[in-house]
Amino acid sequence: MKTGLAGRKAIVCASSKGLGRACAEALAAEGCDVLINGRTVETVTETAAAVRKAFPAVEVREVPGDVTRGDVQEALAHAWDAPDILVNNAGGPPPGDFREWAKDDWIRALDANMLTAIMLIKATVDGMMERGFGRIVNITSAAVKSPIETLGLSNGARAGLTGFCAGLARQTVARNVTINGLLPGPFATDRLRQTMTGRAASGESLEEAMAREARDNPAGRFGDPDEFGAACVFLCSAQAGFITGQNLVLDGGAFRGTL
Ligand code: NAP
Repeated sequence: MKTGLAGRKAIVCASSKGLGRACAEALAAEGCDVLINGRTVETVTETAAAVRKAFPAVEVREVPGDVTRGDVQEALAHAWDAPDILVNNAGGPPPGDFREWAKDDWIRALDANMLTAIMLIKATVDGMMERGFGRIVNITSAAVKSPIETLGLSNGARAGLTGFCAGLARQTVARNVTINGLLPGPFATDRLRQTMTGRAASGESLEEAMAREARDNPAGRFGDPDEFGAACVFLCSAQAGFITGQNLVLDGGAFRGTL
């Protein structure tokens, strides 16, 4: 299938590692120009160099910085004159008990996992609609469909983004601008190791706990970030213009629902 992505310009937030990086690499493999973002400058530089080396025909720009900061959002939104694709992503909030979270903890989670994405959509969506092409993909979490008890900050903030985008997606699709969510279940990234820490049973090491979790998934394994990148490419492709306001769970079947 030809995805029609060659020469398109993508903003991929939080893309120096993990799922964001997998999306940037998969888009670059289709000939799409990408930017790499993350807070750690060295990781941004290393990842950008690796993507350039692997895909020499595409342009790779570096926009280091915390995606929740206004000046970084400005730099991301204006990194390309006419961005075609926006992949929203940021680190996930910490686990915990809601009784211990102060208002500031909620504001931080809402900022990273809801408001930042909305600000970047606001900065790019009208241009996409004028040009007649746009693909917006929000990396959220399987917790949007099936909440994880210890991740209340994530459950709440991501559900807010999903609800907002459900309304907006119907206002942009007639101009060939789609907005969809990709909902990761357990993918083998640094974040998974973080969220697994503390979920080990007594006497169980982190490695043993991770092996148990992988075995318990219907697929018998964790997801490979490349599989996530491939789903992102499809939602960004020319062929996906009739898919909008959807939330695709990638979890090996762990969510036990028929719809
Ligand atoms: P990861 O492997 O830890 O990678 C996170 C990436 O985001 C890194 O490049 C990190 O670089 C960057 N980043 C984090 N906070 C940022 C910020 N404020 N501004 C700019 N860049 C930032 O995590 P991941 O597994 O790819 O997860 C991506 C998202 O999916 C997270 O929101 C996570 O909660 C969610 N998720 C993941 C899983 C899973 O199993 N992996 C499951 C459900 C949901 P720096 O640290 O240098 O900034």
